[in-house]
Amino acid sequence: MNTDLVWSKFLNKIETEVNSIVYKTWFSNTKLHELKDNIATIIVPMEIHRKHLNDSYLKVIIDTLFLITNQMYDVNFILEDEIKKDENNDNVIELNNYDTSTEKTDFKYSSNLIKTYNFENFVVGNSNKLAHATALAVAETPGETYNPLFIYGSSGLGKTHLMHAIGNYIEEKTNKRVLYVSSQQFTDDFMKLSRKDDNDKTNYQYAEYFKNKYRSLDVLIIDDIQFFATKPKTQEEFFHIFNILYNEKKQIIISSDRSPNDLKLLEERLKTRFCWGLTVDIYPPELELRKNILRKKIQSSNSLPEISEEVIDYIASNMTSDVRNLEGAINRLMAYSFVMGCTEINLQVAVEALKDMINKGTSEKANILKVQKVVADYFQISVDDLKSKKRSASIAFPRQIAMYLSRTILNESFERIGLEFGGKDHSTVMHSCDKIKSEINTNNEIKNSIDEIKKNIV
Ligand code: ADP
Ligand code: MG
Repeated sequence: MNTDLVWSKFLNKIETEVNSIVYKTWFSNTKLHELKDNIATIIVPMEIHRKHLNDSYLKVIIDTLFLITNQMYDVNFILEDEIKKDENNDNVIELNNYDTSTEKTDFKYSSNLIKTYNFENFVVGNSNKLAHATALAVAETPGETYNPLFIYGSSGLGKTHLMHAIGNYIEEKTNKRVLYVSSQQFTDDFMKLSRKDDNDKTNYQYAEYFKNKYRSLDVLIIDDIQFFATKPKTQEEFFHIFNILYNEKKQIIISSDRSPNDLKLLEERLKTRFCWGLTVDIYPPELELRKNILRKKIQSSNSLPEISEEVIDYIASNMTSDVRNLEGAINRLMAYSFVMGCTEINLQVAVEALKDMINKGTSEKANILKVQKVVADYFQISVDDLKSKKRSASIAFPRQIAMYLSRTILNESFERIGLEFGGKDHSTVMHSCDKIKSEINTNNEIKNSIDEIKKNIV
């Protein structure tokens, strides 16, 4: 049998053995280079394939090859550009199995996972393929290979989606205990520990609850860690939890909008730990990926009329920054075509429906609502939150920033700003502006965040 034939039989067989996402990610882009001296040399696309196939699928590969060729082969993975090099194969490792025996302690909890974020509906392209492959590797062998996994990249590129996908995958396949928290939720949980309360018993119970909640996890997913920057006490508590989980080989997954080294106000010892595992970044999507994402989103929404390729081209070429925007465009098209009763979305309809979004910066002038939207998006809260009376730090702080930016970028009066923020009086607005101004002067992290937000407004 020639190698091509062996490999196509091999792939057909493997496809029936593993689930489709595993097949697509790890096997579909492999090739058999040669079968020689009892060694099967397999070409893989990236280093991560070599590691993960070795760690997790070696036995399956050897068995399947045996089934097809009736011969036992050792396996050697190489990258395309290594073909010429001579390689030894001495890294045969036993297949790893999930440890599903983890005992569970007895308290109620919710994993906070969003079921609709999974690997199946995550569209892969050049800008996110490493992050995607790594995330899947972690999902298949939590706590074993890449620990901690640190994913970073700008807002709207799919970090949160990938993290939930990992969590959902693990929950589905094992009985491991998974928890997803935003860094804000973690801080809130932790702050409750130190609140003043006359009732010692309640405090004690809460401390126990906190300890149990975090320390008995198998997988801790913590999103947007950059918000820990200004919270040394939270960092300290997280440091302890990190150590406990890490030492017990529990998986930790962290995301941030910047790399560990750029997290200026984070304690050194935390940064060091973040780099112990693997750090991967996600880039803004390239044109082809943007188109594929649009196609996927259109496919999965059954309330959209037919959309031409021309329209997909138009959106993908004009909306270049992030995936959240692309989703926004699709939602807009949906609403527009529903209201207008369109049976087909052609270029003309799309241009009209999306004119505010696509001509951003040229025709749409920045206004208070725009500032509110950008700030709310950045902090992952809603515009209604900004206008509300809520006083928790996770909302009050973004609100102050939005007020400050409305003042400094748009030059609006304090009164007008107060009005647009749910009827606050002008002294509240003034106070907010002063506060943020002094934060900017003393806190680089905050200054950087605000610079980042500004870029999206002007
Ligand atoms: P981040 O956490 O990096 O800010 P999110 O994970 O919240 O970004 O992604 C923003 C939106 O874009 C989500 O609705 C997510 O489902 C979607 N998205 C991002 N990347 C992809 C992708 N590659 N395929 C499909 N949807 C994506
Ligand atoms: Mg996110």
